[in-house]
Amino acid sequence: MAKKKVIADEIASEVVEVKTNSTGTKEIIIERKQEVTAEQIQEELSIAQKLLSLYYLQQVCSKIDKILVERGELPNEVRDLEDALEGLKTRIAKYHEEIKAIQTKITEENTKILDAQALIKRYEEQQQNVRNNREYESLAKEIEFQTLEIQLSEKNKTKHAAAVEAKSEEIKGFEEKVNELQEILTQKQGELEGILAETEEREAELRKEAEVYKAKIEPRLLSAFERIRKNARNGLAIVQIERDACGGCFSTIPPQRQLDIRLHKKIIVCEACGRIFIDKQLVEEHQNDNK
Ligand SMILES: [Zn+2]
Repeated sequence: MAKKKVIADEIASEVVEVKTNSTGTKEIIIERKQEVTAEQIQEELSIAQKLLSLYYLQQVCSKIDKILVERGELPNEVRDLEDALEGLKTRIAKYHEEIKAIQTKITEENTKILDAQALIKRYEEQQQNVRNNREYESLAKEIEFQTLEIQLSEKNKTKHAAAVEAKSEEIKGFEEKVNELQEILTQKQGELEGILAETEEREAELRKEAEVYKAKIEPRLLSAFERIRKNARNGLAIVQIERDACGGCFSTIPPQRQLDIRLHKKIIVCEACGRIFIDKQLVEEHQNDNK
């Protein structure tokens, strides 16, 4: 940087004496008359440097945020699809269980029918050997009763068969839905894997780059930056003045304050939102430094 060199020259120009000490080593005596001024410039430079480091860090952090937003939707979509599939499969299994229970009932009705038919057959045989009309009528009543039982069982069987068919239809519908969702899931999983493969490397690079900038920023300032960033809705902790307003919260910045920001003699934050200000000109001057 040009300014730094000037300082170095100033200091160098003040070498006033070179003497040899007792051990034979040459000692350079420098009189730092301009020390205060040089330190002031140094301080000013370091504020600018701090602001620039924060600004570059912000750029990197914003890029990471963008990757996370881009990726943020897909994992959720994949998870939702997996949940929906899991739910459907559970329902299908439940329906199969229910069908099995209904089929057991159908078997029971079949047994009842066979029993009734056997009884009817026995009663009819008994009717051949009755001693009187009353016994014959009594058996006829039993036969009628068993016939009604058979009819009831047949009715129940029809009802059960209809229930089995309805549930089988529903299962078919669920299975179609499963196939449909499975197809979408496979596609989304592929997309997610692609994005992860693509962005994980980029993210790692950006995080490494962020570490380089972080190392240049004093811990207190860095933690302030991170705190502001966490609370800021757009993730911006350092902003420029845009049309006389804070680039973060858009509240108007008075001209005197804008001037102070332009001088960057100290770190100035927005009174409304707490974001750190960086002078546009400073950014533009150093646009090609780190790129
Ligand atoms: Zn603001």
